[in-house]
Amino acid sequence: MSEHDESPSIREYPGEGFVVTWEAVRCRHATECVRGLPTVFDRDRRPWISTDDATVDEVVAVIDRCPSYALGYRTEDGRVRTAPR
Ligand code: SF4
Repeated sequence: MSEHDESPSIREYPGEGFVVTWEAVRCRHATECVRGLPTVFDRDRRPWISTDDATVDEVVAVIDRCPSYALGYRTEDGRVRTAPR
């Protein structure tokens, strides 16, 4: 758990130039993420998020389509997506 976590229920998945965050209780299984980037988001794999094979822009574009805000990110160039509180 990193010092950046605001809630212990938000998991972090570090990538090259960005961090993906995921809050399981918000996930509504709309599968936008899995359809959008199946190499990154794979519900049959553990951990189910692997940031190795995608660019920052690819990940940001797909996470922006997550309807529940379960997925978020922080990028080194200053982009942030967090759930509304
Ligand atoms: S797009 Fe968001 S709500 Fe849908 S499965 Fe992925 S994380 Fe869950």
